[in-house]
Amino acid sequence: MNFIQTWSWRRWHSVWRRWSLWTLLVLLVVSMLVTMVWLAGRYEASQVQDKLERDTAGAVSEVRAALARNVQDLQALNAGEVGKEDWRVRAAELLQVRREMLRIEWRDPDMAILAHAETPYRNEYWSGNFREDSETHAAAACASARRTNAAAYSGSYFQVLGEGMGMELIEACLPLQQQGRFGGYEVVTYSLPYILSAQVSKNLTRNQEVSFTEPDGTRLALVGAAWRGTRVFSAQQLLDLPGHTLVLRMDSWHRAPSVFPNVLTALVTAMSIALVSVLVVLVRDNRRRLRAERDLGDALAFRKAMEDSLITGLRARDLQGRISYVNPAFCAMVGFSSEELLGLDIAPYWPPELAQEYRQRQGKRLSGAMPTVREGHESMFMRKDGMRFPVLIFEAPLINAQGQHTGWMSAFVDISEQRRIEEISRASQERLQATARLATVGEMASLLSHELTQPLMAIASYASGSQHMLEGAGSTPAAQLPAEQARDQLQELGTVMRKIGFQADRAGRVIKSVRDFVRRRDQAREAVPPQELLDAVLPLVRMQARKLGVQVEVVLEPRLPQVLCDVTMVEQVLLNLTRNGMQAMDEAHVEPRRLSLTVRRPQAGEAQDRLVFSVSDWGVGIPDDIAQQLFGAFFTTRPEGMGLGLSLCRTVVEQHGGQLQFSPNLPRGTVFTFTLPIAASV
Ligand code: ADP
Repeated sequence: MNFIQTWSWRRWHSVWRRWSLWTLLVLLVVSMLVTMVWLAGRYEASQVQDKLERDTAGAVSEVRAALARNVQDLQALNAGEVGKEDWRVRAAELLQVRREMLRIEWRDPDMAILAHAETPYRNEYWSGNFREDSETHAAAACASARRTNAAAYSGSYFQVLGEGMGMELIEACLPLQQQGRFGGYEVVTYSLPYILSAQVSKNLTRNQEVSFTEPDGTRLALVGAAWRGTRVFSAQQLLDLPGHTLVLRMDSWHRAPSVFPNVLTALVTAMSIALVSVLVVLVRDNRRRLRAERDLGDALAFRKAMEDSLITGLRARDLQGRISYVNPAFCAMVGFSSEELLGLDIAPYWPPELAQEYRQRQGKRLSGAMPTVREGHESMFMRKDGMRFPVLIFEAPLINAQGQHTGWMSAFVDISEQRRIEEISRASQERLQATARLATVGEMASLLSHELTQPLMAIASYASGSQHMLEGAGSTPAAQLPAEQARDQLQELGTVMRKIGFQADRAGRVIKSVRDFVRRRDQAREAVPPQELLDAVLPLVRMQARKLGVQVEVVLEPRLPQVLCDVTMVEQVLLNLTRNGMQAMDEAHVEPRRLSLTVRRPQAGEAQDRLVFSVSDWGVGIPDDIAQQLFGAFFTTRPEGMGLGLSLCRTVVEQHGGQLQFSPNLPRGTVFTFTLPIAASV
């Protein structure tokens, strides 16, 4: 129980640790991926921003360069002695190529217009009062230009250009030098949107928008951006013109920039997805592994429980004969702990006197010379305290998962208890046999008295006859008797004495046969001719037969082989069976009373290595209900019976490897049959 608790706690601990590690890993990977995606997005945004800044700076410098170029072109208009007409032609040519200029005026130093030209592209828009509205701006620019003696610009202003349309304009004023003196101005009206479209728009991308704004953010002019995305980037640059400062602002739109801003981010995202998939696969694999581990743990626990509950000792040896495994039952059996046994090739539980033999046996087993038999063999082991005990060993080759032979597995059963029980039952059996024999003896005592009366009475009468004879002879002196008569008397006396001797001999034989039977002999099997077995019991059988008026017949096949048996016990069986048969006939009150003893060779279908003995009577027979319990100890139908005879007979016959059977003897009576092994064939 304690072990299971510790084990399950450990298991939960390791499971928890593993899961927390996995969770940490997943969290780390996810946060790393999020950071990477975020960084990639930011990097991409900064790239876009940088480019936009560069584009804006480029656009500003382009505008500035264009305005500077325009200043030179404007100065060229008044180069040399130029008439108003010439000037107008030159101005018209310039306006043709410079779309951003709407109008050029040549003014004298007092700002009076000497000549002017207008852009050929937008004439229709000019309204008559244009100059009145914008004169202040022109004047401001020119004042600034006069002051700095360089081109100067006015602030921007909105000019309505017919039908509600209009645009932001700006005035530029250029002071003119004529023969080293100040000779008036050239005033140019620029359209801010046209500056943008002429100078910047050709470099714009589809998603960019460029505008001029006031420093406060008010939008003045705008080009580009037919397409708008979801995310806008913007950059601003100051366009510092003498007399006025404009802000050039560039906006750029991007599509769904937050998730897949660009290829880099897409790549990172794809990698992240791959990583997450791998992670998922790993987690799944890990889960499967966990399940397998749990199953394995269960199987191990089951095996351990099974192993611990076994009472059979198990021991495994490798191919070199070293002990590689012992189970608790084995340790308990021999009294050594598993640490003391593992790795040893000479077992400490071998009794020293047998160790040599065991080593040879082990050598044979390892060399594969010994066939593997499923049946166990018996061996003697020694406990740690030196006590010997018998074991039954079953050996089997140990095959590993790859099908290789890696050693031997042996199972041991301690059979000392079994031996003890066998010993007890053998002793009790012997006592039973002795009791049964004594019972028989008791019965025989009455027979003996009957049997002994005859010779004793004969002896007594012979003795008194002889006495008479001697007394008669005594009254007549021997010398008076005729010699012939005296010889006759002596002869008669001799005959009587012989008869007395014979009768005494007969009585002695009767007593000896009983004594022989009763005297207990050690069990020993010997080869005896069947005739001898019968001869040993026949005097006793005949004795009883005479009393009961039974005719005994003995039928022996000629030249029967010897049988191997415990003679005393078999004699007892024969005696029991014949006695039972005779009693059955006595009970039946029938004539003739016949008892037949036969010994024959086996017939076809019977065991060929045995002789068949049978005892047949013509008695009452055995009814079915009695037949069931016939062989039970203490079963009897007779008041003076012990009920031990048949059970003893069966035991004896079975000990000889045979079977005691009975069948009806037609038309009346019973036949008891048993077999004994033929000596030569054993
Ligand atoms: P016991 O002779 O002391 O009664 P047994 O074991 O020899 O004990 O016999 C048990 C019983 O079996 C007898 O009491 C008798 O009823 C029956 N029996 C044995 N032999 C015969 C036989 N040849 N014919 C009929 N009955 C028999």
